Amino acid sequence: MTARGVVVRRRLPGVLGGLAGRFRSVAQYEAERQKVRRFVGRLDLFGFPSTPAVLEAVRRSRWERTSIAILALVGCWALIPIVMFIPPHIEWVLAAFIGGIVLFWRHWRGEYVVKRFEGACPSCQTPLDVKTGSLVRFPRAIPCYSCHHEPWLEVVEGDPTEERSHGAPHQRNTVALSRDTP
Ligand SMILES: [Zn+2]
Repeated sequence: MTARGVVVRRRLPGVLGGLAGRFRSVAQYEAERQKVRRFVGRLDLFGFPSTPAVLEAVRRSRWERTSIAILALVGCWALIPIVMFIPPHIEWVLAAFIGGIVLFWRHWRGEYVVKRFEGACPSCQTPLDVKTGSLVRFPRAIPCYSCHHEPWLEVVEGDPTEERSHGAPHQRNTVALSRDTP
């Protein structure tokens, strides 16, 4: 083996590892870290004093939501001519057809990807749970599995509707979150 070959073999794992690490950090970590924003919210339930909530989430642009929604729909429907040959046939076709519509709706509606949520039920004070990775839009009902109420999560600072309405004053006297993130 030539000296050049040895050098390539010795360096390759490091180069590949570096590339993989760089790809991961650039494509995922950096993109997500910079886009994660912190929102101050409020949990409202009729007949109870509202409780504060904290939400960290990534905002998805309309282009991102629409393109992923269409890809999900096309992907599911493209499976139909394949799965129709697998018994019990019609069930698979229905599953792919309906699954495409459900995924389209979820991705198109989901304006935020939840990274962290903290808030307690206004009725029983039980900490509420919003799964990391959930696609959400505000305001949103959060079920309490302790008292079976459904308080509404409203964002009062860093309101997502601020961006949609190009900074128009919100009806509830909301404060825009500072956008000095790099
Ligand atoms: Zn509760």
